[in-house]
Amino acid sequence: MEILKFGGSSVSSKVSLENMIQIVGGYDLDQEPLIIVVSALKGITNDLVNLAETLKKKEKDYNKIIHTISEKHEEFIKTVFNEVPKELTKGIKKQEKNLIDTVNEIVNRKSMMPKDYDRIVSFGELFSAQIIAAYLNKKQFHFSFKDARELIITDEGFTNAKIDWDLTTSVVTSFFARNKKSYVVTGFIARSIYGDTTTLGRGGSDYTATILATILKAEKVTKWTDVNGIMTADPSKVLEASSLENITFSELKNMSKFGSNVLVHPESIDELSKHDIPFLIKNTFNCDFKGTQVINKEENCSQKALSTHQSCSIISLDKSWDLPKTLMKEIINKNYLFFRIKTFKYKDQSCYVVANDCIHFFKENFEMLLQESKAKNLSNFDSAKIIEDDIVLITVTSQKMDKKEEFEKIKTTLETDKINILGYRFFFNSISLILNKEEFKRALVSLHGEVSNNQIFSV
Ligand code: ASP
Ligand code: MG
Repeated sequence: MEILKFGGSSVSSKVSLENMIQIVGGYDLDQEPLIIVVSALKGITNDLVNLAETLKKKEKDYNKIIHTISEKHEEFIKTVFNEVPKELTKGIKKQEKNLIDTVNEIVNRKSMMPKDYDRIVSFGELFSAQIIAAYLNKKQFHFSFKDARELIITDEGFTNAKIDWDLTTSVVTSFFARNKKSYVVTGFIARSIYGDTTTLGRGGSDYTATILATILKAEKVTKWTDVNGIMTADPSKVLEASSLENITFSELKNMSKFGSNVLVHPESIDELSKHDIPFLIKNTFNCDFKGTQVINKEENCSQKALSTHQSCSIISLDKSWDLPKTLMKEIINKNYLFFRIKTFKYKDQSCYVVANDCIHFFKENFEMLLQESKAKNLSNFDSAKIIEDDIVLITVTSQKMDKKEEFEKIKTTLETDKINILGYRFFFNSISLILNKEEFKRALVSLHGEVSNNQIFSV
């Protein structure tokens, strides 16, 4: 069995749905059923998050947002169906009513509970999966709509729930053993052991596909998106950027962390790798193009790729001081981009790079630690300073490169182009470089020339 996952942009236009038909047409559904996992229509989850925030702040705009969401779906349905199937109209009306009832319940209660967020944002996939199932049926492909809350069971960690693998495995296994049919399943959403709606974190539809794939021992998972797979660099910045044919899961994990051109839910990468299920990333708008295949075996993965993070800072700490373990744990849990680097300039200090989108966390914590150490008259913490606040991070990833040798080449290339390296860090399969923002574009093009010129093994 195969699992296909279609992201927001891949389910949101007439062209993408026509291409989906071509893709599904390549399978013999009578021979083997197919599972399609879908995201919400483009922008809808953001609208729903906005709705949840409006309710939380007790603002009055919620009716307007509901109206916009309904309108977007109705408009889309009108564009893709010449004649809207009655069942679909009924299903959509029912979901709209559920959404309004949910909102009214929260408004009347005058307070918003953590679980209300998940209830609200879950509607995107409930709408889209019904539309896609109806569309496929109209085109003579027999698919049934399936609400993933009837399949995937989680804890109560609302907004980012953790899977109860034992329960989910037994429910999913017995459901698909009894129902040997093709389904369109709602991505992103699940239910808690107590029956409340939960969600799997932003971008969680990848994870839904992964969960079903690992339990049903799928042959592979294909993520249909709107770009030609993972690229050697962001194609909007580097004209010569090309698609990577094969990469390993560990390279993908690294590239996602440091800013690759396709976002993949991190837990999906781990699970697929653990179960050795190949993961394909393909373009719905260029469906014949082979895209990127992500696998465990390194043999065929010989290209290098660049990922970028364009807004970072460098924090320096006194050399004699270590970050408290509890703080480190929190940083890891929150998945913040934060790591120690070597610099050529600040030799007597410990320097760390931190992404600016989480820097508030560090500022607050350092301030707290400073107050504590002052109150206790401790002298071991007296300085945590931001010494650069507008720098960029370019990471070269390749499982097979000799990092020392590569770094020497990079240094020579950048020196020739008069680009200064502020700091760097070697990781297991990558080298991260810290550079000045003004030099970002030049550095990226220059580095891309260097890394694409010297593949490690010829493919
Ligand atoms: N619709 C959800 C989101 O936008 C889940 C997904 O698209 O994977 O985060
Ligand atoms: Mg989405």
